[in-house]
Amino acid sequence: MNQKKFVYSFAEGDGKNKKLLGGKGANLCEMTQIGLNVPPGFTITTEACLDYLDAGHKLPEGLMDAVRNHMTQLEQATGKGFGDLNNPLLVSVRSGSAMSMPGMMDTILNLGLNSQTLQGLIWQTDDERFAYDAYRRFVQLFGKVALGMPDSLFEEPFEAIKQREGAMEDIALTADNLREVTDLFLDAVHGHTGKPFPEDPYEQLEIAIQAVFNSWMGKRAVDYRREFKITPEMANGTAVNVCTMVFGNRGFDSATGVGFTRNPATGENQMFGEYLVNAQGEDVVAGIRTPKPIARMAEEMPDLHRQLVELRDKLESHYHEVQDFEFTIERGTLYCLQTRNGKMNAHAMVRTSVEMTESGLISKEQALLRIDPEVLQQMLFPRLDPKHGAISLAKGLPASPGAACGRAVFDADRAEEMGHSGQLVILVREETKPEDIHGFFAAQGILTSRGGKTSHAAVVARGMGKPCVAGAEGIHVDTQARKATIGETVIREGDLITIDGTTGDIYLGAVPMVEAEFTDDLRTLLSWADQAARLKVMANADSPQDAQRALSYGATGIGLCRTERMFNAADRLPIVLEMIVADTLEQRQEALDKLLPIQRSDFQALFEVMSPRPVTIRLLDPPIHEFLPTESQLVAELEHLRQLRSTARGVDILIDTIRLLPPGDAAMHEISSLADSGVVDAAIEKKEAILKKVRSLHEVNPMLGHRGVRLGITFPEIYSMQIRAILEASAECTRRGIANHPEIMVPQVCTSEELKAVRTFVDDLRQQVEASTGQQLDFKFGTMIEVVRACLRADKLAEEADFFSFGTNDLTQATFSFSREDAENKFLPMYNAVKILRDNPFEVLDTQGVGKLMELAVNWGREVKPELKIGICGEHGGHPASIGFCHRIGLSYVSCSAPRVPIARLSAAHAALKNNA
Ligand code: PEP
Ligand code: MG
Repeated sequence: MNQKKFVYSFAEGDGKNKKLLGGKGANLCEMTQIGLNVPPGFTITTEACLDYLDAGHKLPEGLMDAVRNHMTQLEQATGKGFGDLNNPLLVSVRSGSAMSMPGMMDTILNLGLNSQTLQGLIWQTDDERFAYDAYRRFVQLFGKVALGMPDSLFEEPFEAIKQREGAMEDIALTADNLREVTDLFLDAVHGHTGKPFPEDPYEQLEIAIQAVFNSWMGKRAVDYRREFKITPEMANGTAVNVCTMVFGNRGFDSATGVGFTRNPATGENQMFGEYLVNAQGEDVVAGIRTPKPIARMAEEMPDLHRQLVELRDKLESHYHEVQDFEFTIERGTLYCLQTRNGKMNAHAMVRTSVEMTESGLISKEQALLRIDPEVLQQMLFPRLDPKHGAISLAKGLPASPGAACGRAVFDADRAEEMGHSGQLVILVREETKPEDIHGFFAAQGILTSRGGKTSHAAVVARGMGKPCVAGAEGIHVDTQARKATIGETVIREGDLITIDGTTGDIYLGAVPMVEAEFTDDLRTLLSWADQAARLKVMANADSPQDAQRALSYGATGIGLCRTERMFNAADRLPIVLEMIVADTLEQRQEALDKLLPIQRSDFQALFEVMSPRPVTIRLLDPPIHEFLPTESQLVAELEHLRQLRSTARGVDILIDTIRLLPPGDAAMHEISSLADSGVVDAAIEKKEAILKKVRSLHEVNPMLGHRGVRLGITFPEIYSMQIRAILEASAECTRRGIANHPEIMVPQVCTSEELKAVRTFVDDLRQQVEASTGQQLDFKFGTMIEVVRACLRADKLAEEADFFSFGTNDLTQATFSFSREDAENKFLPMYNAVKILRDNPFEVLDTQGVGKLMELAVNWGREVKPELKIGICGEHGGHPASIGFCHRIGLSYVSCSAPRVPIARLSAAHAALKNNA
């Protein structure tokens, strides 16, 4: 005799034991036990399912006896009889595992009907049409889901009868029509299975239970579990829920509907939902009739509306969460059929978190933990109006969040031109290149037909906080013809388009949008997050505008200012070029002297915006040839200039001739706009000098070459200029009463000797600046940890540094020995697909490899200097799970781009709350 208990009534099952009873079963038990009016029923356990499958598809001994016992209890509870000719009990049969999982068996309704009980139903309800409709639905569902018959065997005869009767909708069919349909369905079953439709209700039930169990191993369910990594620890086997049928289509005192305990679009604390009188749930879903808003029920069925409000209150106070529930009213009695946590947009999640906390329904901790940090992104960018209704033309990758609308342009120059003339534009390219940057500045958003989430377009757009849809392969971009085609649709320059960088959708025309809103509720929630978190959140920002934005999102300082980005601005690049091509120290110093005041004012502006918070400034990092054009570009330009020189020589002669023409001649104008040969010669000379420099600076592995601190030590005048600019800016701010805390950070360090060397410049310059300004300087000196050796020598580096900041972009590249660009463009997608690597390590911190090195560095650094401030400024600093890891290994702060600051603040709180639990 089997000792296991396989069947639990809803009144006795443990509502917390989803593993045994499945999510749906556990929920039905819980709802029953807190006093909600759930139709009586029972759950067959997942263990029974596993035993059945183990035994080669044989029901465990004693199971059907237990089922019969529970059916008897249902009969007692309802006063009806299973198979009773006069007052038949009908049930629904549903699958339900521990995890919600499409792919398993669908619901069978009205089980228990046969040619005899049908008569009982007609007699009982006095509604022949209703009874035949229930019967034909049952035969159809049973045939399809329990007997595995194709849909078409039912749909074809059904459609034929509708056509014959001229019925547009099912509702137009009469009782006689439905009787005929049912007979055809029963014949179809006989034809398909070779046996008549099972009349015995218990036989029906047994077949249905087996079908549910079998569906656990059905292809769709198995594929789904594999795809979503649902392991047996998470869900093993499916339960079967058998529940008394209740009908919302039993007259005008019956109804069916769905409700949310609060408004899921706005979060407003008001019940929201729809209902239909005298209808079945299916009718709502199928859109056969238009449901009414629940508020109408207060007039139409006041007593039931009051009961519904009570139900809503009970659900929220029990689940401490907004609920999405289904209900049916049968002849004036309200039943709750299902409830689950309501899905809401970010605005509604934040608002309900704050309001439920303030009303005492949940704690601050629960308010924080119920929100996935990543969803906050929705609140920080303009987005499409959720009610827009527009149909997407094509889809690409959601590469940079937010929505943008503008006129399509196909090259950066036109984007700039139209942008400057005040038009809103979307830059549409096959892919973008660094030379398109002016087009990015002018555009509202970027759309490319090639490249992934880490393509140039995606990375630059994210950095600028502009929406981007990348790799929309359905679009064919023809730059020459200034148009793009998507299937039949042609988009020409100037046509309005809308892109949604949060979903990847592309629309023709202007789709209505709603502005980004950093609401008071979000501010409140994030202030609670800051109280809960241990990690501080800083921002990566290189300009006062970025800094301002970061500050408004709650950054507690700047964790990384990449000074090379300041060098790229149009007014500096020529000076930077001068510095690089300089042949002598004097020439270089001359260029640096010009850069000094510019950098000083850059830093001063940052200190002012961020005062009194820390601003971490990284000394120059990339190889200097990155500021120069490429060799092939220069060769092409020189070629062009040389051609121009021969023309220009001709032009000189022509000019001499034309001088004889009367002034104001049109030809004169045209010719005078051409360069004379002297100007062209000078240009050639300059380009040749740059080309020579480019060739001399050529490196085999530039990313592992002459860059970072190595550059700073070999060209000390460059770092000295930057350090001086930082210190003088600090002194000036202090003089003006602006509190400031600069942190000077050295990149690419691999040995403490390098840090010592830079420290001597810093010490010298401190003395000089203090002496010349009379101000006492207060700053920190630290290092990036982005080289493997730096992790392994962290104890020595800690002797020289006030702080560490993990540059996990480079550290990941160094640890894996592959670069992000090559990996993402060549093998990483395949590696991820075949699970050689589970994640993209440039997005999700590789805690097992890179993280191990970080952990060593933290421990060894703090052994030498327990108070050492340690942060992270690689992209992982804005990734929720990676932030969790940073918390666990004891970092002091994370630094990320401004738009990710709110996400990082909430992630930091999650990390603290989950690790204290
Ligand atoms: C890093 O390497 O993680 C880092 C922040 O530096 P960059 O991305 O500028 O190389
Ligand atoms: Mg780096």
